[in-house]
Amino acid sequence: MEGNKLLCFLRRHVLPRAQTTISSNQVIVLYREPGILTGYRLPGQSFRYYLASVFQIHNETVNIWTHFVGFFLVLYRWLTFLYDPPFDTRFLPVLNVFGFGSLCYTLGSTTAHTFHSKSPVIHYLCFQIDYAGNACYSLGFSIYMFYTSCHIPFFDILNRSYLPFMVMLSAISCLCCSIAKIKYARPYPFRRKIWNLLSFGTQTVLMFSLVVPRYLSCYYDPLCQLTSMNHHTYVVIFVLLSVFFYSSRLPDKLLLGKVDIVGQSHQLFHVSSVMGTLLQFDCIAWDSNHHATINMAPDPRSLLVAMISYLTLVFYIICSFRPFILKRVEIDLKSTKEH
Ligand SMILES: [Zn+2]
Repeated sequence: MEGNKLLCFLRRHVLPRAQTTISSNQVIVLYREPGILTGYRLPGQSFRYYLASVFQIHNETVNIWTHFVGFFLVLYRWLTFLYDPPFDTRFLPVLNVFGFGSLCYTLGSTTAHTFHSKSPVIHYLCFQIDYAGNACYSLGFSIYMFYTSCHIPFFDILNRSYLPFMVMLSAISCLCCSIAKIKYARPYPFRRKIWNLLSFGTQTVLMFSLVVPRYLSCYYDPLCQLTSMNHHTYVVIFVLLSVFFYSSRLPDKLLLGKVDIVGQSHQLFHVSSVMGTLLQFDCIAWDSNHHATINMAPDPRSLLVAMISYLTLVFYIICSFRPFILKRVEIDLKSTKEH
């Protein structure tokens, strides 16, 4: 009897199962994803419903799990490096900032994909949390690129202003994505993607530009093999793949309705981003071990101040957006009633 009860509980709450889902024309425009025709969860349900939906089959299941599994893979890599650092331990604060940022974006994204259909207000809030997590990761990314991988002359030039500049740039990225999300209504125009790609893209290009001269000096050095830069090359490949899947919406647009559950561009974007993140831990280890940049460990207090400043800024951005979100939801509601 007890065994039956346990089985019932597992079936109802734990084991993955098909869920009652609806098609794109049965949900409000805000929840529709281009190229995804079916598999939408019922909107306006309780938090418990969306939490249980993590273990059910619908068009967000793989989006949720790709970053939820990614969260644990990142945590595992971080802890492995933390307890047995394969590099100079003075660089541990850099590893910690990057590990924290990576956990923030995978968990923020998991939360957003789980709860965003609860209500339009929650939808906007969820994606602000997602953007804040992404920008936190970008800050960790820019910190390790500077302290472990930067071309040495750049390090000397940028040293004092780099951290405050990157904190501002990360907060601005979160701000731009939040503005673009409420400024444009679905179906989103390409201009919205430009807001997103330019904000995070500018920061990413700046970060990689710190390393590009190392490729050039290696190319002209007969004793240096370009394969010695492979750890960065692999990361670049996965970042480019992420950008491609995020911006192209392929294969969704070509295979209308065929990738509603598995194979969406957004899922491929998640997988590429997690792969790139896992490989970035090797960049920290390799470059700090080989003294790729100046052998000067960062001051842990300045990294802590940078992270706290960033978190304070995004908290302020998220709170100050509430009236604009309410206004946007009101406008959306009016236009829905008019149609
Ligand atoms: Zn996502």
